Amino acid sequence: MGRIKKMSAEMNLKSRKKRAAASAKSAGVDGLLVTHLPDVRYLSGFTGSSAALVLFGGRAVLFTDGRYTAQAKIEAVGSRVVIATKPVLAAACEWMEAAGVRRCGFDAAHTTVAALESMRKVVSGKVRRGMFVAVGSLVAALREVKDAEEIRRIRAAALLGCKLFDGMLMYLEPGLTEVSVAAELEYAARLAGAEGMSFETIVASGMRSALPHGRATSARLPRRGFVTLDFGVVLDGYLSDMTRTVHLGRALPGERDVYDSVLEAQEAAVARVAPGVTAGEVDEAARSVLRRVGLDKYFSHSTGHGVGLEIHEGPRLAAKQTQALEQGMVITIEPGVYVPGRFGLRIEDMVLVTATGGEILTPSVKAWIEL
Ligand code: ZN
Ligand code: ZN
Repeated sequence: MGRIKKMSAEMNLKSRKKRAAASAKSAGVDGLLVTHLPDVRYLSGFTGSSAALVLFGGRAVLFTDGRYTAQAKIEAVGSRVVIATKPVLAAACEWMEAAGVRRCGFDAAHTTVAALESMRKVVSGKVRRGMFVAVGSLVAALREVKDAEEIRRIRAAALLGCKLFDGMLMYLEPGLTEVSVAAELEYAARLAGAEGMSFETIVASGMRSALPHGRATSARLPRRGFVTLDFGVVLDGYLSDMTRTVHLGRALPGERDVYDSVLEAQEAAVARVAPGVTAGEVDEAARSVLRRVGLDKYFSHSTGHGVGLEIHEGPRLAAKQTQALEQGMVITIEPGVYVPGRFGLRIEDMVLVTATGGEILTPSVKAWIEL
């Protein structure tokens, strides 16, 4: 890493840690124990698989094990690194007691009952009472609004996804197995520099397109019918997520109409995105289009989700969700219609919430494609 890049990375991390410490303070705790690895990465820069991070008194202390000595020093700029000789959680709790933490906030969503018991066991009886306080997912809440560096990385991941989809248009043809389509896509992703896929690639063709999360199987692409590709790549730690549905061969009457309705629903929801608009209102924008044509009963999932270091982050875009969108959030808009036993389709974009609306980060073509 160049010096300037390192300095700006350190400043980003510093501001994230500051905001996390402020949230911890408003939650009524003086220390924050962070164990969910994407949260640890977000606050410290450290990408290893064994870590706990403690924020206390303006300090950030990263606990990891001997395998990561060199890596932690390079990545965790601005955090003190402690190489633990016992489980990292125990080392972190011992350190907190010694440092004088009185109330330590932890994230119940990412702490098992067993972990909490072991945390309690490590600290002495005189501080144990009231020491560990479940404060909710404070860091996850911060992560919903992306900073400029995160947006840059997400943008790059999303664009790579689009490039890969465009390549697949040349490749798709009847007779290929779904798994070979997934393999081709994932191989191309790796060659293009992806660290991995965001999740198991979905290739759902023919009647299987009616399965909203049909993983690729040995089924062969039909001569006539839909093929849904839902996939994402990981680039610089950040994930992309997009879905396109194409049609092989000539469409049957009705298939094209359903596609156009889903596309209209998707575009209506994208158009509704703006700061201050609730997640439920965006969901309703998509759902109401499908309701008008009697297809809403086949739209069996929520409209979208936040995406960043993880594939499913906040906010959740579902019916009646009252959370307001904020500038800097990155969300997906992905309505779909699944007619059991017949066919299904979904169209998904990643959308950045800007100062005035929404910007699509996955500009691949959405118009009807017949191959
Ligand atoms: Zn997706
Ligand atoms: Zn998605």
